[in-house]
Amino acid sequence: MLQKKQPKPFQPELNTERWEAKDGEPLLEIRDLNIIYKTDARTVRAVNKLNLKLGAGESLGFVGETGAGKTTTALGILRLVPDPPGIIESGQILFEGRDLLGLEKDEMRQIRGSRISMIFQDPMTSLNPSMTVGAQIEEVLGLHEKLSGVDLCERARHMLEVVGIRPERFNDYPHQFSGGMKQRVCIAMALACNPQMIIADEPTTALDVTIQAQVLELMNKLKDEFNTSMLLITHDLGVVAEICDRVAIMYAGSVVEDGDTDEIYDHPLHPYTRGLFASIPSLDEDVESLHVIPGAPPDPADLPSGCCFHPRCPYATERCRKEIPEMRAISGVDHQLACHYVNEKGEFSGKEAKADA
Ligand code: SF4
Repeated sequence: MLQKKQPKPFQPELNTERWEAKDGEPLLEIRDLNIIYKTDARTVRAVNKLNLKLGAGESLGFVGETGAGKTTTALGILRLVPDPPGIIESGQILFEGRDLLGLEKDEMRQIRGSRISMIFQDPMTSLNPSMTVGAQIEEVLGLHEKLSGVDLCERARHMLEVVGIRPERFNDYPHQFSGGMKQRVCIAMALACNPQMIIADEPTTALDVTIQAQVLELMNKLKDEFNTSMLLITHDLGVVAEICDRVAIMYAGSVVEDGDTDEIYDHPLHPYTRGLFASIPSLDEDVESLHVIPGAPPDPADLPSGCCFHPRCPYATERCRKEIPEMRAISGVDHQLACHYVNEKGEFSGKEAKADA
């Protein structure tokens, strides 16, 4: 009797190099990053003294409203900020111990796709409509791996299987796939060279709600299988709770609070983070209207003085209007935030803030 052909097991012998952290060194550490978009008329501060850390094998949810600077940060990591008008003004982006901002263009080209890959929001912008999906995966592999001929084809077919697509669809074009399947192809391309880190920019926003959960589940599973770190850019706190070890909350180009996901979700301290959590509808409570954070995000071309959140913060004082709050660690837990009125014990003294005003 003919036996059903079993798919080949995953062969991680390509680019399996994994970076070894020394003394708890993070895989990615962004220090005081400033990115602007400059035109004759105005200068937009998209990323403003941003600090961020991501450990090896860790997943970090990068959360914030539209325009907070999340995508610009991701483009900065990959050195893909469009220049002009974008300029990486200052700061450091340490990845595997090296400052990416100091690398030559050729070195950076090698890192993109092989050590760091990116999954974009809309799969149609990542896929070439005139090439078969198989050829597109082969193209990524051909750029970074010493593969050719049958080996290249085998590996590309294998990557399709890894993301749950039959390898027989190797010669199909993107338009022959649904949105969810296209995003699976993008995930296959992102993982093809077994990168150390993936940046996923709102990877499910363009998909039907029913498909979103499947794609997220797949990404989460493959992240563990490939032992890859993930920076997940999203505005969906529910998604972060599902799949991220840590979370960083971004406001007006800076991280205002970050730490262990459970810790932040159980004890959000920054008034902006608390506002975000309060605006999530609850299935258990019967409410007439949802909480909204008053006001609108600031114009990045005209950021407020002091704490950028002060025009919307109910606890803002004169000090908040003048002085930029430093990031402060809460003792004994993985939790940092920038607010003048939270002490290292994690106590919020909003009353005292009002008294100062
Ligand atoms: Fe609000 Fe002041 Fe804290 Fe900023 S520093 S979040 S304005 S209380």
